[in-house]
Amino acid sequence: MNEERKTLEQREQMTDLERLRHSASHVLATAILKIWPEAQFAAGPPVENGFYYDVDLPHRISPDDFQKIEAEMKNEIKANHPFEKMEVSRDEALEFGKQGRLAALGERAEPSKFKLDIIENIPADEKISLYRNGDFIDLCAGPHVMRTGNIGAFKLTTVASAYYKGDENNPQLQRVYGTAFKTKKELDEYFAMLEEAKKRDHRRLGRELELFVFDDDVGPGLPMFLPRGAVIAEELEKLAKETEFAAGYQRVLTPHIARESLYLKSGHLPYYAESMFPPMELVAESEESKRPLHRPELFRELLERPLTREALDEILSKAEKIRSDLPIDRYYLKAMNCPHHHKLFASIPRSYRDLPLRLAEYGTCYRYEKSGELFGLMRVRSLHMNDAHLYMTPEQFETEFNAVNEMYLNYFKLFGIEKYLMRFSTHDPAKLGQKFVDEPELWKQTEEMTRNVLKNSGINYIEVPNEAAFYGPKIDVQAWSVIGREFSIATNQVDFAQPRSFDLRYKDKDNTEKLPICIHRAPLGTHERFIGFLIEHYAGNFPLWLSPEQVRILTISDDPKLLDYARLILNELRAHQVRAQIDESNDKINGKIQRAEQMKVHTMFVIGKRDMESNAVSVRVHGKGNLGAKPRAEAIAEILQSIRERRA
Ligand SMILES: [Zn+2]
Ligand SMILES: [Zn+2]
Repeated sequence: MNEERKTLEQREQMTDLERLRHSASHVLATAILKIWPEAQFAAGPPVENGFYYDVDLPHRISPDDFQKIEAEMKNEIKANHPFEKMEVSRDEALEFGKQGRLAALGERAEPSKFKLDIIENIPADEKISLYRNGDFIDLCAGPHVMRTGNIGAFKLTTVASAYYKGDENNPQLQRVYGTAFKTKKELDEYFAMLEEAKKRDHRRLGRELELFVFDDDVGPGLPMFLPRGAVIAEELEKLAKETEFAAGYQRVLTPHIARESLYLKSGHLPYYAESMFPPMELVAESEESKRPLHRPELFRELLERPLTREALDEILSKAEKIRSDLPIDRYYLKAMNCPHHHKLFASIPRSYRDLPLRLAEYGTCYRYEKSGELFGLMRVRSLHMNDAHLYMTPEQFETEFNAVNEMYLNYFKLFGIEKYLMRFSTHDPAKLGQKFVDEPELWKQTEEMTRNVLKNSGINYIEVPNEAAFYGPKIDVQAWSVIGREFSIATNQVDFAQPRSFDLRYKDKDNTEKLPICIHRAPLGTHERFIGFLIEHYAGNFPLWLSPEQVRILTISDDPKLLDYARLILNELRAHQVRAQIDESNDKINGKIQRAEQMKVHTMFVIGKRDMESNAVSVRVHGKGNLGAKPRAEAIAEILQSIRERRA
């Protein structure tokens, strides 16, 4: 979290809602002081979904206190006090602080210690202002709403602890969080959304629906997909393969590891080293025979002595010395697939006739995310990436880039992702040669081409300067699930630097060697993040084609003839690759239905004697209930068609 003081410019850009929420934090402090006059306050900014105020107070505030605090806040809002600004000199501000009057209802014996510290850190040329609402005066640069009455609806949410200025050497404070909206309706909608989000949380559904697990012995951030989850990954992979095949991609396969030299060439080392797992160090194979274990003669003299601790230590240190003198070969787990793919491009002489060349792989990568940043499937250390690298001539760029964007849009349509935004990140010419590879012409050219494609295709995008990748402009795709949760699910990058560092060439029409442009793209992101997204997006109610268990057959009784009929249907479904099962338990039909509903099985075929006699099944769809009896062939044909068309 950014704990730094907002600049004046940032303050001017605060939205109406941020002003309202920040004003609510003043009211929160006012209310706390009415109950605990000795409270000392630090910072009280608006945050993404509300506001907080950091308070130092011997009483430990708990949610049990919220009602009492909220009642005081309501009084303050009802009183409709104006937020009055007072400009003061630095000395006056310090005087206020020494009298304990900052973030206070009046003079106090204890000085306002945090506010005094904050004043010390206000830039010398910046004006200092105080704001008053009712009896409460605070050191603040604003802005606020006009009056406390403008704070429409609010609610306190949680208390956490936080170090002053985020520094663990500073005192620990209580951070009281709340949120506020213009209207009660918006506030209610917000909490309803949170409730819904909790129900859809992919970590919770992942467990309940037996999709994936984590295990301490395997390691944090390393999800394992159970059969029900692996099925979703496989369906996504099938979708990607079909789509990419139709678009002229070719599949490749590369190892999970590579030598250090590959990543030195790509520039990922040393720049990306922190995000990679540390290397595996091997003694170079040609030197293998020189390893200490293969050369007992070196230790003979030591081995002839009695095996004391000293002798053992001597052997170990001698072995270590020999080992450290041997040339070491370092291997890294791959954190990205590009370098391997570039090597494949370079492995065969290429002519302009081979371009565009589109190499695709569901590549397995490993990234060393900090343990504090790991989060369910959303932030993990092992990733299966819907990766591909497209190599092309500059003339082919526009068509290729457009086709990639089309692919994104088609996927979004398929998954019912209606709200998305493409963030087009460009370079800053002032930072060429530092943050961005020093190719001013290529930057201009590719950014221009990319911008044209985005404009001409009418895609919803924003341009963000200074955030491009080192090697070229990039597009990040942010998508929102149906409940409004935001995910960054895909990136699409233009690269003109790596082809150069890998010395990629193609022979052009005029027989000269030229550098191709490369596009990195991963429209379905990684299995991990995309499945996490889909679980929440669908609330675990996957469409038939993605559903881990597509059909469950439930017999009304355990009549053996009925079970035979069920097995007949099961075999027919499985012959058509439908994921189907029979519930062979002795439970009553209602119990069977309930269990299937709990596991969100997409379709149930309920069969009784009458169904069997008329060669029919009674169809029940999760979330839709009983759809009535249908001839068996018709019911199965409908299932197959829905799967084939990947219906929503
Ligand atoms: Zn303020
Ligand atoms: Zn790449």
